[in-house]
Amino acid sequence: MRVVPRYDLLFLVLYALLIPLAAAVVWVAVGRVEVLGAALVILATYLAFSLRRPLRRRRAAWSPFPGEWRRFLLERSPYFRGLDEEGRERFACDVRLFLAETRVAATGGAPVTWKTRLLVAAGAAAMLHGRPDWEPPLGDGVTVYPGHAFDHNYRPGRGAIAGQAPERGPLLIAEKSLLDGFADGRDGVNVLVHELAHYFDLEARKGGLRIATDRARPVPWAEAIDDAYLRHDFSRSPLPDYAVQNEAEFFACASEMFFEDPGRLGDSCPRLFALLAEFYGQDVRTVLKE
Ligand SMILES: [Zn+2]
Repeated sequence: MRVVPRYDLLFLVLYALLIPLAAAVVWVAVGRVEVLGAALVILATYLAFSLRRPLRRRRAAWSPFPGEWRRFLLERSPYFRGLDEEGRERFACDVRLFLAETRVAATGGAPVTWKTRLLVAAGAAAMLHGRPDWEPPLGDGVTVYPGHAFDHNYRPGRGAIAGQAPERGPLLIAEKSLLDGFADGRDGVNVLVHELAHYFDLEARKGGLRIATDRARPVPWAEAIDDAYLRHDFSRSPLPDYAVQNEAEFFACASEMFFEDPGRLGDSCPRLFALLAEFYGQDVRTVLKE
């Protein structure tokens, strides 16, 4: 993640230039100097409003990364452990930016433990590590349910839903299943990565992301992943049966394995692995070497 996203910076500068430019045109047309004073007030108001987010992000990026957070990540995140110092610095910055802007709370807005918040941020930071220009696709934040699962009526402690990614609304996750996902960071099962993958997939489809594959020209992401799903040999697949349901579940399950057991996915499905490496902008095998 960029401390100040390039897109934000571009629009900030553009509008900051347009306001005095428009004032100059009006001044020439009407010949009244008061126009310039009004433009200055508008410019100052605009800057005060639009600089809040970049300043908040800069403060977050510069804030200290607590030692207990670092120790916890070294213990619970093989991905963080596998990064070199420069990579860990960038990862820690992404964690701080994520937590500064993304709501992670229990049902009803109640707070959750710092460990839960940190693991959510760590999952997002790993998935964004190869795509510094991307932002977490979580505008509505994350709602954490107690226990291992909830049911279709969102009653915690019942049913078997460990996580859900509604198209509109926060990512839903059962706290104990979230923790289980990080308890063994190499088993290819991580409900947070799974649900986050759904949102990355949705964003890429809606945003018309084009991706380089083994074909001559980059193709739309939707076309590339749908094609990979149709070509996949499920009878010899290392992916769980859940992946066979549709293209979205296929990608989400493949993402779990990509981030936790990349060697196995790369060995058994090299074309699918290459597609995910292109999508996420990284080859996780270079991080998870141990
Ligand atoms: Zn799913």
